[in-house]
Amino acid sequence: MTDGLVSGPVRPALSAATRVVGVMGDPVAHSLSPLLHNAAFATLGVDWVSVGFPVPDGHAAAAVAGLRALGIAGLSVTMPHKAAVAAVMDRLTPVAESLGAVNCIARDGDALVGDNTDGAGFLASLRRGAGFDPAGRRAVVIGAGGAARAVVLALADAGAAEVVVVNRSPDRAAAAAAVAGDRGRVGTPDDTDGADLVVNATPAGMGGTATATVAPLVDADRLGPDQVAADLVYHPLVTPWLSRAAEQGATVVGGLGMLVHQAAVQLERWTGQPAPVEAMWEAALREAAAREAAAGR
Ligand code: NAP
Repeated sequence: MTDGLVSGPVRPALSAATRVVGVMGDPVAHSLSPLLHNAAFATLGVDWVSVGFPVPDGHAAAAVAGLRALGIAGLSVTMPHKAAVAAVMDRLTPVAESLGAVNCIARDGDALVGDNTDGAGFLASLRRGAGFDPAGRRAVVIGAGGAARAVVLALADAGAAEVVVVNRSPDRAAAAAAVAGDRGRVGTPDDTDGADLVVNATPAGMGGTATATVAPLVDADRLGPDQVAADLVYHPLVTPWLSRAAEQGATVVGGLGMLVHQAAVQLERWTGQPAPVEAMWEAALREAAAREAAAGR
């Protein structure tokens, strides 16, 4: 630290030659994507920059047309545009096709390719945080929204023996379980007994929101040694549910890893270079700590 500034790699000055990527969403100002990607660009020493594009609901197709015309090199896509963007891509990766949702637009020549990197990011965070390989293992996923569906598909694609979805609304649970094909089914919290992995993919426990004090449908007291508990929520970094699971002896994995790794995969799609994941982790941890301090934790 010098003069109150964090020292580190410095990106080249912005110029007319700078390659632009960004994140589109509504709202978008809170997104950590530019922070993570700019940290990576500075570490790589490349003349790229990431910014936020606030795009109102209903304007995704116009935004994608703008991206094509302006030569923007790629975009992260967040709420509420993931499905609308999928409908206007030239091609979808098999994962984005299965999910009907795009969180990353990359260019392949003149073609725009829609991908979804959430599942790959989740698997990478499990590997890093717990050394966990889903092949042949039993998993319970709590929740059935977009993030849950990405996790269910990634676990099934990685060879999980069974993926059980536990959710408040049964119809959405059935749709999410179907993403795993014949290895997916709807279950109850009782399915946690004997599961190798239990994932909270709901906003339960997310600080600063109406669900901050809501507990995930599976009680952490049910968890124990020989189980991995993963939470997609990353604010706070360790949710009350994860904290209790750790007290019960479970190996715990917070949501920040998924955020970092899905962003790393996006950067690799755009630049063709290996992502400097450690630098992205450091930037994410610094920002998360600052946000937790601001929230008075
Ligand atoms: P979503 O599409 O809105 O789905 C939310 C899910 O949570 C639904 O299944 C919903 O159940 C359930 N839910 C919401 N409130 C609930 C409550 N009070 N009690 C019980 N269940 C409740 O959201 P999403 O995009 O999937 O995101 C889910 C969470 O994952 C969010 O906290 C998000 O921030 C986080 N996330 C993290 C990452 C990361 O990189 N770490 C990436 C993506 C998402 P119903 O079906 O019954 O409505």
